[in-house]
Amino acid sequence: MAKYSNKINKIRTFALSLVFIGFIIMYGGIFFKSYPIVMTIFMLLGLLSIIFSTVVYFWIGMLSTRAVQVVCPNCNKLTKVLGRVDMCMYCNEPLTLDPSLEGKDFDESYNSKKTIQQ
Ligand SMILES: [Zn+2]
Repeated sequence: MAKYSNKINKIRTFALSLVFIGFIIMYGGIFFKSYPIVMTIFMLLGLLSIIFSTVVYFWIGMLSTRAVQVVCPNCNKLTKVLGRVDMCMYCNEPLTLDPSLEGKDFDESYNSKKTIQQ
């Protein structure tokens, strides 16, 4: 069974790992000190990765403003739902905004591309 998690959390984790990957790439460049061109390429790639993560963070900010805030029925915390179905940020309880999907098994395929882009 696939492991689902809250979409905003997932993107945030992705952005954070990009920062780390960027630093690792830049750190890797140090091993090519005798090849300035290779080192520059490593530094640029690392920098690009960090810049990209900033863009992703910005994108999360945009997404969270469009996400619907709901109180999770399971843990009673305020969480954000993106798309038709999403998981609670805290307890991974499947949540839906569509009454017709209520009680059904969680399936991320309910999130059609059309729904997300609205
Ligand atoms: Zn919850």
